[in-house]
Amino acid sequence: MSKRDYYEVLGVNKSSSKEEIKKAYRKLALKYHPDKNKGDKSAEEKFKEGSEAYHVLSDDKRKTNYDQFGHAAFQGAGGQGGFGNFDFSSSFSDIFGDVFGDLSDFGFGTSRQSRRANNRGNDLRYDVSINLNDSYSGTEKKINYTTYKKCKTCSGSGSKPGSKPSVCGYCSGQGKVRSNQGFFTIQQTCPECSGEGEKITNPCNNCNGMGKTQSNESVSVKIPKGVDDGTRIRLAGKGEAGSKGGSNGDLYLFVSVEPHNIFQRSEENLYYELPISIADAALGTTVEVPSIDGGKTKIKIPSGTQSGKQLRLKGKGMPILRRNMSGDLYIRIITEVPTSLTKKQKELLTEFKALEDTKSNPLIKSFFDKAKKFWKN
Ligand SMILES: [Zn+2]
Ligand SMILES: [Zn+2]
Repeated sequence: MSKRDYYEVLGVNKSSSKEEIKKAYRKLALKYHPDKNKGDKSAEEKFKEGSEAYHVLSDDKRKTNYDQFGHAAFQGAGGQGGFGNFDFSSSFSDIFGDVFGDLSDFGFGTSRQSRRANNRGNDLRYDVSINLNDSYSGTEKKINYTTYKKCKTCSGSGSKPGSKPSVCGYCSGQGKVRSNQGFFTIQQTCPECSGEGEKITNPCNNCNGMGKTQSNESVSVKIPKGVDDGTRIRLAGKGEAGSKGGSNGDLYLFVSVEPHNIFQRSEENLYYELPISIADAALGTTVEVPSIDGGKTKIKIPSGTQSGKQLRLKGKGMPILRRNMSGDLYIRIITEVPTSLTKKQKELLTEFKALEDTKSNPLIKSFFDKAKKFWKN
């Protein structure tokens, strides 16, 4: 199923303010919240779709990525559908805390969800450097990293196989403790069990009760063509394992593109300066110049080409991410004046100079005409 555009889902547009996006989502969430539409699958889908859209558009970084790359911004490697793994329960309480502030107004509890949110595994960052050619044709990188994986011995529970955690005696399994201070009742997270409501009394030997163990992972990541310096690629669920039923964190690949010794890049376009001799500039010529695909392109330099003139080769720039299009290649001509002349060259140039008249140098003539007037006044 193709994903709907996030702006369309919320009925807003790219220039909508944060406030407008929040308002749109609040309206949608109130209408489709599962507690109000029990058993209604399509309402639930709409609710999830809206929450996912809000999760992205409410965050500056995610929004920028989405505006640039669309849904592909959150696509992991190996065809893993980014938000296919969007962990609804973990982002849920953050979203609602932000949008609705006081959750009690809304009439549904989030204690379970926020507890799980804390159990989500850490996100990881991995820096990868590619060259411009890789960015031009797309590439695949194998990366090795160290992470925490769910302990195999206890399946992540932290308890020795066959034993169970015991109910925390301090909070009677509530995870919270109340204390009275005058008129007020203050509720706090249980200091004994950190809000879990239970304690591991018989820890697993393999992970010492952590529920996870360190592990060296290796993953192959497809880097799509057109990727620019600073692009982030998210590999959903490839981060550290969560604890006690919490979801895995994500692995973020930060891509940097090394500078090239010929081509300079600005977004989808490429640039370089092409030096030519003054004779070629005056007489005109044809030159074979490099293009980023590794090939040669013949370009015609017309006679009388001035230094600084820019030529544009359409479609010879970088591919545009996710689109079947490419930028352009701009070539700026500069003329190289010879710095050491042979005797013969000197003679010929002197002869040439003697033949120069005002018609051959209109710019020079016009400048000194203006200068003469200026001196007169
Ligand atoms: Zn274990
Ligand atoms: Zn407790």
